[in-house]
Amino acid sequence: MTTVPDTYFTTGLDADPELGAAIRGELERQRDGIELIASENIVSRLVLETQGSVLTNKTVEGLPYARYYGGAEFADAIETLAIERATTLFGCRYANVQPHSGSNANAGVFLGLLRLGDTILSMNVAAGGHISHGHPATLTGRDYRIVSYGVGRTSERIDLDEIRDLALTNRPRMIIAGGSAYPRAIDFAALRDIADEAGAYLLVDMAHFAGLVATGLYPNPFPHADVVTTTTYKSLRGARGGMVLWNDERLSDRINHGIFPGVQGSVLLHGVAGKAACLGEALQPSFRLYNEAVLANATALAESLAETGLRLVAGGTDTGLMLVDLAERGVTGDIASKALEKAGIAVNKNQIPFDPCPPEAPSGLRLSSNAGTARGFDETDFAMVAHWIDTVLRASTDETTLAGVRSEVLALCRAHPIY
Ligand SMILES: *Cc1c(COP(=O)(O)O)cnc(C)c1O
Repeated sequence: MTTVPDTYFTTGLDADPELGAAIRGELERQRDGIELIASENIVSRLVLETQGSVLTNKTVEGLPYARYYGGAEFADAIETLAIERATTLFGCRYANVQPHSGSNANAGVFLGLLRLGDTILSMNVAAGGHISHGHPATLTGRDYRIVSYGVGRTSERIDLDEIRDLALTNRPRMIIAGGSAYPRAIDFAALRDIADEAGAYLLVDMAHFAGLVATGLYPNPFPHADVVTTTTYKSLRGARGGMVLWNDERLSDRINHGIFPGVQGSVLLHGVAGKAACLGEALQPSFRLYNEAVLANATALAESLAETGLRLVAGGTDTGLMLVDLAERGVTGDIASKALEKAGIAVNKNQIPFDPCPPEAPSGLRLSSNAGTARGFDETDFAMVAHWIDTVLRASTDETTLAGVRSEVLALCRAHPIY
């Protein structure tokens, strides 16, 4: 009896046909469908290979060159590379690249900088904020006192006067900007002034626009924010995970200890390597071209949707992300997203500001040009995507129409293969 099968080190997915079939099925799904979900992207082969590498075997805790386990020579080199690339890319002094996710990055910063029961002023999820900014269903929502701001009813944009009033009345220890469904630019300098007046930290969560910040195509949260958090797998087109960036050395120990041991244990080293890889790619000139295309394609998608009569929340997008209001079509986001999926187009249903409909059957869809741009779609292609969305929304129960769009979607995808 051998303790491991002969094939243990040599056979990959073929060793587990049931699991292998599901993963291959997912590859086909990604290959043959159009991905418009804003929290997704399509990574390079390099990033993919880091994720499936031997780094998954290594356990390290603590920071580079100050580990609790031995054998960390290469781990230290990899994490140091990720940190150096992150600080170079965003022009800041310090980075922690260990957060397993964007939510952990935020939770670790809260734990490091705040005391239990402190007040956080953050954006309402219903207005486009992110759940990890203190939603009542999360640990952070339970540990801190959350006050939330929204958007103006007609502008559908952040209202600085509202934030200032709430900040001066509630005296938060932290103000958070950046959300998961806010399509417009944010005035970080004005938020800095408000934070100073209220005596609060300013945290900017740039998960959805980090790539644009890195390439100078969106307002930079630095030098205004005390701390910046992000995910690395959305606009940064890299490994799943999160990251924290800051400039003030006095915050370093508190932030680092907030992440480990505050909210996490050992490092996902393969994830850190994937972050180093995507940050390396983001430092290349081609990443600027990619982000310019993300914006041009988002504009083409938004304008073409508007031409079909659909209304865009806040009138359009500055970020590559947009919210479409379906109210006038008499269809809700859940039904629309299911019909679009049948046609090979992946989107997510989303509430719009002041949505009269519930989250399960909301009035909107959230779209992004990130992933389509990564596989090489151009503005003409995105105008066509808008046309297909319009067609599906007009005939969401007509199987023949859905099948017709499906075959056109497939042809476009085949023209821009992945992996
Ligand atoms: C996606 C996102 C996160 C959280 O990401 P997870 O990796 O899913 O935890 C945090 N903040 C914002 C603004 C996001 O968009």
